[in-house]
Amino acid sequence: MVRIGIMGLTGCSGCQCEILNCQEALLKMLKRVSINFFPLAQDDNSLEDLDILFVEGSVTTEEDERKVKKGREVSSLLVAIGSCACYGGVQSQRNDEVSLTEMVKAVYGEKGVPVKVSKPRAVSEVVEVDYELPGCPLDKKQFVYTVASLLSGVKPFFPKIPVCHECKLSENECLILKGIPCQGPVTFSGCGAPCTSAGVGCQGCRGNCDFPNFEEMVSLLTQRGLSVEDAVKFLKVFRGYTAKEIKVRGVVDEKGA
Ligand code: SF4
Ligand code: SF4
Repeated sequence: MVRIGIMGLTGCSGCQCEILNCQEALLKMLKRVSINFFPLAQDDNSLEDLDILFVEGSVTTEEDERKVKKGREVSSLLVAIGSCACYGGVQSQRNDEVSLTEMVKAVYGEKGVPVKVSKPRAVSEVVEVDYELPGCPLDKKQFVYTVASLLSGVKPFFPKIPVCHECKLSENECLILKGIPCQGPVTFSGCGAPCTSAGVGCQGCRGNCDFPNFEEMVSLLTQRGLSVEDAVKFLKVFRGYTAKEIKVRGVVDEKGA
């Protein structure tokens, strides 16, 4: 039996719920794997001697850091799941705009918070990560594919091509051509383009595709009615630490990016 763990750090637990939503596939998987650590879903948990550990959430507290370091020590492979674990997530979008002290004070007042918090970090900023499955939440088909590949001794492969590619495969009419803001041209596909297929512009939840052209993306968004500043904010929502790449037209300087 392959020993698996599923750990949650700072996040909404949505990715862990998506794993539970795998239903039939999860039941089939249980014939080949034992889930030794999954505190969200079971009472008996052991964080020892794992073959694969899936980690959801950003590293935001001392407890997160301690847990993920211990997880890395006891696992042969570590897979970051969801955009919080891969990029820092929504909670990291303002990391470089406001100081942590100012944020804590604005939200909790002078008393502060009872736990020691740091700026939200991607898991790869703290420990070595073998694979990343981004998305908000992660795509459950990619989770099943990853487990199936690893069980077969095959390295999972995720080409970092844009969501536009999946729109074309679905024969969607391009939303940008219809005047709707969409981040598909700079976003890592693999989700099957559910948002654009439903007529909603891609929000960029899976992070960057290879070679994203942010300057051109901002130009397209401003032609669809957004100000340059709003276009940059739109692009930063899910990109976490990679938001530093979105420096266009001098609007976002070193301090604000
Ligand atoms: S709708 Fe968005 S993702 Fe789809 S082709 Fe147009 S720009 Fe690309
Ligand atoms: S279309 Fe965009 S926002 Fe929607 S799931 Fe895919 S990457 Fe995320």
